[in-house]
Amino acid sequence: MSKIGNNSLIACHDCDLLFRTRPLRNNERAACPRCGAVLYHKRPRTISRALIYSLTALIFFGLANLFPFMTFKLQGREQVTFLASGGLELFQQGFRGLGVLVLSVGFLLPLLKIIGTLYVLIPLEFNFVVWKARETFKFVEAITPWAMMEVLMLGVIVAYVKLIDITTIVLGVSLYSFAALIIFMTLSAAALEPIEVWARLEQRRP
Ligand SMILES: [Zn+2]
Repeated sequence: MSKIGNNSLIACHDCDLLFRTRPLRNNERAACPRCGAVLYHKRPRTISRALIYSLTALIFFGLANLFPFMTFKLQGREQVTFLASGGLELFQQGFRGLGVLVLSVGFLLPLLKIIGTLYVLIPLEFNFVVWKARETFKFVEAITPWAMMEVLMLGVIVAYVKLIDITTIVLGVSLYSFAALIIFMTLSAAALEPIEVWARLEQRRP
């Protein structure tokens, strides 16, 4: 049975009050004594559940990038696009900064996030701490605000609505996989309690 890191100092993310952590029971929340913000939450089997959601996300990431995203049909011509096509196209047309940004936000950072999470959580599930696990988890936490696939999805929906009148659009397997990927990454984030991961990483310092 794992414990929340006991007696370590954390700062409230809303008002910066320093707070000593204490072990919680399952589903119990620790709130900031000054502003009432929820500081951490003991979720049952947080690592196992986040692990399963992240593995599922990885499968959908593969499907989203292997299959066509959308196929445009206009006057007998057909153009197949892939998930990474948008960023590459921008890059080739001279919008290099924008191309790199789209590829990072929609492809590279989500991939690094999933792989990094699995690299830390799979061994932790079996009570191991792998090489550079703390650095990896710190990196995953740092890139999380930038792995914004939802924004890309919103852009796709807007483009779809605008183009549907002038061209025939066939939605590919990739698009549905991409939607599933976003859902499973959100589930993984909701299941994972970082403070629990940090506590386990500190407990098993090699
Ligand atoms: Zn507070």
